[in-house]
Amino acid sequence: MNSRIFIVAEKLKEEYKDFNHKNKVNPLDELIFIICSIKRSESRYLLAFQDLKRAFPSHQSLSEASLSRIKRVLAPYGLQNEKALAIKELLRSIIKAFGKPTLSPLRKMGDRECEAFLLSLRGVGRKVARCVMMYSLGRAVFPVDSNCWRLCHRLGWIHWRHKVDVISSKDMDLLQAMMPEQLRASLHLNMVFHGRNVCTVRNPKCCICIIEKHCPRIFGHNVGTRQYKSG
Ligand code: SF4
Repeated sequence: MNSRIFIVAEKLKEEYKDFNHKNKVNPLDELIFIICSIKRSESRYLLAFQDLKRAFPSHQSLSEASLSRIKRVLAPYGLQNEKALAIKELLRSIIKAFGKPTLSPLRKMGDRECEAFLLSLRGVGRKVARCVMMYSLGRAVFPVDSNCWRLCHRLGWIHWRHKVDVISSKDMDLLQAMMPEQLRASLHLNMVFHGRNVCTVRNPKCCICIIEKHCPRIFGHNVGTRQYKSG
């Protein structure tokens, strides 16, 4: 299994060059960026985050802004009520923990402590916590989003047990443990891109897939439910 993971990681890296999804180096920015991205297309959430930064250049100014002002900035991109509230609550909890709107203290924490703190924040699950850790703190974790999950399943790396949207913490831990530490970030970045553009939920483009030789789906093995059969 390990050698298959290495080969697939290498092929994806060769093709996508550790695709830049425009995530943020500052962990609090990354968390806010993720909130902006929920249920929105890439073009919209990039603009939403940009507008938010323009309106509130510092985390301090964002934390002092009224809920209604944050809502107004996010309004063109939708879900402004939920997202503005989530941002306010997040900042409130962080200020309570660290005395100011910053996640810099996470840099001094070990992986476990860091993940536990992020998970203690309302609305932050394991995938989001690990995205912040990977993108902004350089930790060797493997965030499992629906693209990574689907690909790992289709490649036969994990058994299919749930609907694609339901990824348990246990499954996330299992996949993370399977991935060699040095490949985790690269695999995540490139699997997200491959899953969005080639190995899509419906009608995956197997005929142009650069890892099709390593995919049991091609050989007619049972790798999924009807949902995955191309039309
Ligand atoms: S061959 Fe098809 S199912 Fe397999 S990884 Fe590629 S696109 Fe996905």
